[in-house]
Amino acid sequence: MPKYIFVTGGVVSSLGKGIASAAIGKLMESRGLTITIVKCDPYINVDPGTMNPYEHGEVYVTEDGAEADLDLGHYERFTDAVIGRDSNITTGKIYHYVISKERKGEYLGKTVQVIPHITDEIKRHIKKVTRNTNIDIVIVEIGGTIGDIESLPFLEAIRQLRIDVGYQNCINIHVTLVPYIKSAGEIKTKPTQHSVGVLRQIGIQPDILLCRSEKELSQEAREKIALFCNVDKNAVIPALDVSSVYEVPLMFAKENLDQLVTKLLGIKSKDCDLNEWTNKVVNIIKAPTKQTKIAVVGKYITLQDAYKSIYEALVHGGIANNAKVEIIKVDSEDISEFGVLKYLKNANAVLVPGGFGYRGIEGKFEAIQFARENKLPFFGICLGMQSAVIEFARNVCGFEGANSIEFDKNTKYPVISLLEEQKEVADKGGTMRLGAYACRLEAVTKSFFAYEEKKEISERHRHRYEFNNEYKNVMKDKGLVFAGTYAQQELIEIIELKDHPWFVACQFHPEFKSKPDRAHPLFREFVKASIERG
Ligand code: GLN
Repeated sequence: MPKYIFVTGGVVSSLGKGIASAAIGKLMESRGLTITIVKCDPYINVDPGTMNPYEHGEVYVTEDGAEADLDLGHYERFTDAVIGRDSNITTGKIYHYVISKERKGEYLGKTVQVIPHITDEIKRHIKKVTRNTNIDIVIVEIGGTIGDIESLPFLEAIRQLRIDVGYQNCINIHVTLVPYIKSAGEIKTKPTQHSVGVLRQIGIQPDILLCRSEKELSQEAREKIALFCNVDKNAVIPALDVSSVYEVPLMFAKENLDQLVTKLLGIKSKDCDLNEWTNKVVNIIKAPTKQTKIAVVGKYITLQDAYKSIYEALVHGGIANNAKVEIIKVDSEDISEFGVLKYLKNANAVLVPGGFGYRGIEGKFEAIQFARENKLPFFGICLGMQSAVIEFARNVCGFEGANSIEFDKNTKYPVISLLEEQKEVADKGGTMRLGAYACRLEAVTKSFFAYEEKKEISERHRHRYEFNNEYKNVMKDKGLVFAGTYAQQELIEIIELKDHPWFVACQFHPEFKSKPDRAHPLFREFVKASIERG
């Protein structure tokens, strides 16, 4: 039977609960244990797929095609856990399920209530991830901050779950903030005391506190927190700010968090071994021998989390090349307004990520044209590939006004169009081409060599529009290379340019499969090309 670690957050949001959960997962794996991680999100959307990145940050896509919370990306980057559709539970998903059951008459005669019907369904959904696998530990991260009204059913569910599966088989970890008040020159423990107080009122006593702080916690402060929060003083773990998130498992290990967790859960396992992670990831991040500057041209640039996996995959590409990647964030609308040179003149390479809607698109075309004409390494992802096709159609093939029918339904040259099966789709949620699809690679292309001469690869998708095959021959004649295809439907997955040092664009999202110690091949090669450009 698996054991459970419940992770909650208090005081403020953005404390890095997702990273903490992923790092705890990493620690457990480094002791030879098999883990999985589940994220509970208290919002009413069934999934974040229909939310704007400004609301929610990046929408992460799993192998099995779920549109999910970006914390699942942290889980996959830090661990080898199998993460999928069932790894993200939302209030919307649970209510949708319960209400459908009610309509079918499955609760006939009963009043359907938050307790027990919603809480039972939350517990069942959490347990679902342990089906068919030999999981030692399930880490359950509860989104939101203690005190929020909407997370209460999730907290009640984990309180009950501990009773259901046995007190000794679960622990509660609470991530809190211990602020440093500059004018007083002191750290303050009161917000943590209050947050734990609220948790205890709803029946949850934390076993471990992870105290986020910009200053070292004195022994005295740790003792004070322990006393007021009713936890062991060794279980008050400082979680100081670090320069790279990939250092967090090392920081926790230094505080013996892994020993504490396994001891509390009564698990016998080998000692934690993070040597490989230290050597292959952290040491390189701390002392890279090279550096490069890569411009990311998008429209959600001001929001840190909107392109989370892209930024991380660039860091991974840097690690693979022993290089620090400095990311120049460029708002594509600024390019339209102030000209491309201002933003790209110092870049060693350009990346155009995915996106939706017309706003900002023309600036992306300008950035792509600049990269194509100046032989600057270019990497286009999803909308980035579609934009590269449009730019090529307009400026190389002479198809004036060529476009995607997403932006111009009446364009004379619909080089990006909709598949017949998508034309009928009315619902917005979960109806795109989603999740892993196989892609056949063309020999002797940049992609083929990046993937170490594999004939077939598999990558994750999230898009509705596709390359329009009617334009394949004319574009091929003009120098566009079709390097990857989804064979079953002859859909173009990767394009390249013939006479260019590195111009690769893909319809799928490679960023979701990159890990710090296993950089995605296309990111690795893209960063390499940017370094060579110098
Ligand atoms: N908007 C485009 C489509 O739906 C691209 C999507 C994306 O970049 N993820 O096809």
